[in-house]
Amino acid sequence: MILDLFKLDGKVAIVTGANTGLGQGMAVALAQAGAKVVGVARRSCEDTRKLIERDGGCFTEVIADLSSMEVIPLIINGALDAYGRVDILVNNAGIIKREDAIDFSEENWDSVIQVNEKMVFFLSQAFAKQLIKQNEGGKIINVCSMLSYQGGIRVPSYTASKSAVMGLTKAMANEWAQYNINVNAIAPGYMATNNTAQLRADSDRSEAIIDRIPAGRWGTPDDMKGAVVYLASDASSYVNGFTIAVDGGWLGR
Ligand code: NAP
Repeated sequence: MILDLFKLDGKVAIVTGANTGLGQGMAVALAQAGAKVVGVARRSCEDTRKLIERDGGCFTEVIADLSSMEVIPLIINGALDAYGRVDILVNNAGIIKREDAIDFSEENWDSVIQVNEKMVFFLSQAFAKQLIKQNEGGKIINVCSMLSYQGGIRVPSYTASKSAVMGLTKAMANEWAQYNINVNAIAPGYMATNNTAQLRADSDRSEAIIDRIPAGRWGTPDDMKGAVVYLASDASSYVNGFTIAVDGGWLGR
């Protein structure tokens, strides 16, 4: 039956940035759909563990700083040690640095490109190698942004990284579809999380943003749940290289 296609029983999902915000919302959704979840973050994912275990789900965490490439084997091996296999990777962790483009520092460039772009590619590469070994396919879900489509203001490294992730989603899908690996992305609109705390604190900017969103409100981590379960499940087996906007209509306006 159609709803069975959305079930993730027996699957193992790695979610980066799972301790808060959109990553926490997606981790909880994947667990509710039946997946065992491996959360990755620098800080503890204890709140996420509580939410998942409250519903009877399974959760383990890998504490890792994604600004170092050395953590990649720790993440893959952490998932394999805990649950013996991997099926789904959600590349959600991301940072943003705000500074006028004219003064933008190399440090604010490199730190954002490292976590948002370089790590997304190389963690996906290591994950895909494990999927190829397992020979049963799998799902990679990247997190893009409205700034995968638009330029933004005062966030040039973020725009560069999120535009790159939309391109990489297609590039990886093209090469890995032959292994039954689906690579897709979700582009959240303006969501109420730590990432946008500064924007929301500026009442003029916040009002201007809400005025432009057809749905008339900021998005929430709960708004990500349907899209992530869909892209993680067999319901999306023939969807490859595509980015789904979850934006309250922002892009259509
Ligand atoms: P958030 O609340 O700021 O959470 C960011 C997450 O990324 C945290 O779990 C954080 O873990 C993790 N993270 C950041 N740097 C890390 C590092 N070096 N190593 C390990 N983990 C790291 O942000 P969010 O709004 O939920 O954003 C999640 C994703 O959605 C990001 O890719 C963001 O760009 C994207 N996005 C957000 C919006 C929005 O409006 N909020 C819109 C479009 C796209 P620690 O706390 O341990 O650092």
